[in-house]
Amino acid sequence: MDLKYTRKNVYKEADGAELEKIYAFSEGYKKFLDGAKTERDASEQAKKLAEENGFKPFSFSEKLKAGDKRYFVNRGKNIFLIKVGKKDVAKDGVRIMVAHVDSPRLDLKPNPVFEEAGLCYLKTHYYGGIKKYQWTSIPLALHGVVMLPGGVKKDICVGEDDEDPVFYITDLLPHLAAEQSTKPMGKAVDGESLNAIIGGLPAVGDEEDKESVKTAVLTLLNKKYGITEVDFQCSELCFVPAGKARDVGFDKALIAAYGHDDKVCAYPEMKAIFDSKSDRTVVAVFADKEEVGSNGTTGMQSKVICDVIDTIANSFGVNPIEVRYNSKCISADVTAGYDPAYASSFEKRNSTFINCGAAVSKYTGARGKSSSNDADAEYMGYIRDIFDKDGVFWQTGELGAIDIGGGGTVAMFIANLGIDTVDVGVPVLSMHAPYELISKADIYSLYKACLAFCK
Ligand code: MN
Ligand code: MN
Repeated sequence: MDLKYTRKNVYKEADGAELEKIYAFSEGYKKFLDGAKTERDASEQAKKLAEENGFKPFSFSEKLKAGDKRYFVNRGKNIFLIKVGKKDVAKDGVRIMVAHVDSPRLDLKPNPVFEEAGLCYLKTHYYGGIKKYQWTSIPLALHGVVMLPGGVKKDICVGEDDEDPVFYITDLLPHLAAEQSTKPMGKAVDGESLNAIIGGLPAVGDEEDKESVKTAVLTLLNKKYGITEVDFQCSELCFVPAGKARDVGFDKALIAAYGHDDKVCAYPEMKAIFDSKSDRTVVAVFADKEEVGSNGTTGMQSKVICDVIDTIANSFGVNPIEVRYNSKCISADVTAGYDPAYASSFEKRNSTFINCGAAVSKYTGARGKSSSNDADAEYMGYIRDIFDKDGVFWQTGELGAIDIGGGGTVAMFIANLGIDTVDVGVPVLSMHAPYELISKADIYSLYKACLAFCK
């Protein structure tokens, strides 16, 4: 019996074979992540992988039976993976794993194009919690869709191929930043100055044209995509950091990438539903809009999750209320790993640590646990037992010290449906930065946690 609790380092505990599995798992993750920068990209990737794993399109009108594997893509931005098991769904409920696949970024404004001092720009409105100064002077890629009149949809992705150009937001040179450097960090770069340069070559022929660079860029866009300036009003386009996930460290123990929050949880939950041999009915959800409050048709506050559960219940002629009441959920989202460079923002005894496994957070929230579902002791006990039984490395901690800040997850929205829910995720360093850091040991631990949960 261990009288005292000590957090375990997964890398220290793992033998050679386990280490190999940890590193191999992260290769699949990096590949997924590079093609999943936005919720649309992630949903598309998940759909493809689901099809490869024998999943078929879902219909709210169908009668599901044991052994069925279904995917439901909600408006291209939110996907449900459904695996129907042999167990009685009324008694056993559904095992639900939810992660979000939207990440902080720079959305385009509805009228984004302008020319100034010989350069053409796109104006942005940031999405989610960012430190604005981090988005200047880095390579940016443009992702999203534009609707042309008549319902024609154009997909746009520029800046990810080696041959592609990237886009760029300027910063002020230090030589002239005497005034800027006296400002508080949150005010050093203004939201309205996050304008990305998209061109510098003027159109020729019309001497009167005061916006000849804008004319030339719009001509290019029209040739390539058939769009005109007004079409931006019916678009969802955003700038994300260009480039790929990279291993970090001589030992390659870590991965830096854009959008670990929260694809680092989405990928293991998806892999777990693919790989699980469980008799239970399992649903994995990739949610949208978490970074801005989980509202709307594709966020976790939408009723769609209930509609999916109702369809499962109706298939077996059982009461959906009973199914929900007996269901269990893992809200898989990242948490802040302890960072010695910013030690005063953490409470060391109650922080999660990189390399120490899946992070279980009984509660999240801010200012006295506000906006937290606060999982009950009984459910925490249940989660501990299933993880320990399967040798899952896990740890528990809060997001930072008290009253330093805080943050919420989708956990409360699932819990509000009467479903036991707890946050289980991966500790991240530099969360919400354009390039975040996670440990390969931790993402693999979350995969094992998800497998144990489905079992
Ligand atoms: Mn998150
Ligand atoms: Mn986040």
